[in-house]
Amino acid sequence: MNEEFDICIIGAGMAGATIAAYLAPKDIKIALIDRSFSEKSRIVGELLQPGAVETLSQMGLGHLLDGIDGQNVFGYALLHEKESIAIPYNRDTSTNYLGMGLHNGRFLQKIRESALENASVIQFEGTATELIENQKGVITGVKYKEKTTRISREINAKLTITSDGFFSHFRKALSNNKKSVTSFFVGLVLTDCALPFSNFGHVFLSGSTPFLCYPISSNEVRLLIDFPGDTAPKRPFIIKYLKNNVEPYIPDGMKDNFIQAVSEGNFKVMPNHYMAAKPLFKPGAVLLGDALNMRHPLTGGGITAVFSDVKILGTHLLNMPNFNDSKLIEQKVQMYYRDRKNANTNVNILANALYEVMSNDSLKDSVFHYINQGGKCAFEPISILAGLNRNPNTLIKHFIAVVLCGVKKLLKGKITNFPKALRMLWDAFKIIKPLAKNELSLATVLGLNKHKH
Ligand SMILES: Cc1cc2nc3c(=O)[nH]c(=O)nc-3n(C[C@H](O)[C@H](O)[C@H](O)COP(=O)(O)OP(=O)(O)OC[C@H]3O[C@@H](n4cnc5c(N)ncnc54)[C@H](O)[C@@H]3O)c2cc1C
Repeated sequence: MNEEFDICIIGAGMAGATIAAYLAPKDIKIALIDRSFSEKSRIVGELLQPGAVETLSQMGLGHLLDGIDGQNVFGYALLHEKESIAIPYNRDTSTNYLGMGLHNGRFLQKIRESALENASVIQFEGTATELIENQKGVITGVKYKEKTTRISREINAKLTITSDGFFSHFRKALSNNKKSVTSFFVGLVLTDCALPFSNFGHVFLSGSTPFLCYPISSNEVRLLIDFPGDTAPKRPFIIKYLKNNVEPYIPDGMKDNFIQAVSEGNFKVMPNHYMAAKPLFKPGAVLLGDALNMRHPLTGGGITAVFSDVKILGTHLLNMPNFNDSKLIEQKVQMYYRDRKNANTNVNILANALYEVMSNDSLKDSVFHYINQGGKCAFEPISILAGLNRNPNTLIKHFIAVVLCGVKKLLKGKITNFPKALRMLWDAFKIIKPLAKNELSLATVLGLNKHKH
């Protein structure tokens, strides 16, 4: 194509389609490429925390959650052995934060439609194969292979946004990221079943690793079961594990539905990644979404981070009079990389720290006991989980308090537990150290950044 676009977006997934929908009404000329624009059936991105819902509304796109049979989510419940705690997102009636459970594919189609209804957005169905770089080292667009004809073509743009998801082909050219697989999630759908806490997300702690569930439509519940390790579990192992290690902990009201879903065997298996954001600045290009940064999905924080990034990058770009000043585009991209880091610190640390804590017997008991105390011990952690409290000092404070609470409980009247308490402190240190190193900046530690929400 000879025409030059303002922006070329590689990947019309949660990040790419949303930034197109946010920018398109402002008459920015956008090329939106994806391998397929058909509706996907995926087990990812089905629970939006209130932080994601809020950011979507702030971008003027809140209406895209209507008409897809999405279910309000009022908070989170923790179930451990015979006990359970349900913590609402709203402490009292002064706020009305809601999460939302939904079919990701349906929601994504609505976002894409919203972007494509603007004449300034052109859809290209095909696979992006290569970034185009000029002699000055500036990215000037992308080569792609058209889906129907298999012909290779080029798209030229002043800024190329690479949002091609967790298996990103382009991140190696634009970042120094190291990706690791923490575990796998096996997903099943239970139909017509009653959750212990209606319209709540549930985390079950009694098994050797956590599993979770939440409503995704008026008659469906998504169940995600964690399989630790970096190799995908095989089907016979999955079935055996579900029967022996999950079924005993499924509440009575869901048991028949669980047995039915296991016997139908429609499992989907997905790897869970951790990848800290380490962008390399390259003029003419920018990374967005999972291509830049990933965390464990236990806390449902992915879309909160994606929408937050979309809003930060989109707002910086909207502050430019046009796309004719390449130096100004470079500045805006650098400002986005700077601002997004602080915005996503809590989402990233919490996701991986909580996953590790909930896979560790002593720390898991401790977190349950701590939250069960109620008051600030419950409401501040849930505001972090919800993506509403982005202040890392609050997260660090509660992390330390959970560990100390566990140590105190162990030592209470039983000094012989001293080695166990030391072990707990050491495990907690091993969990938080790499995350703090990757995610916390010196300015944040010194309290120089302002966190508003
Ligand atoms: C098991 C699991 C469960 C999760 N559950 C939740 C949850 O409940 N809540 C939550 O907030 N987050 C969740 N997440 C995370 C969340 O789904 C992701 O953070 C989010 O989908 C990332 O959006 P994205 O646009 O970067 O990637 P995607 O949504 O994956 O989009 C990438 C797009 O790029 C396209 N593409 C890729 N390569 C090319 C190419 N070469 N050319 C053209 N197009 C290309 C793909 O077709 C796709 O449409 C979960 C993640 C996992 C693994």
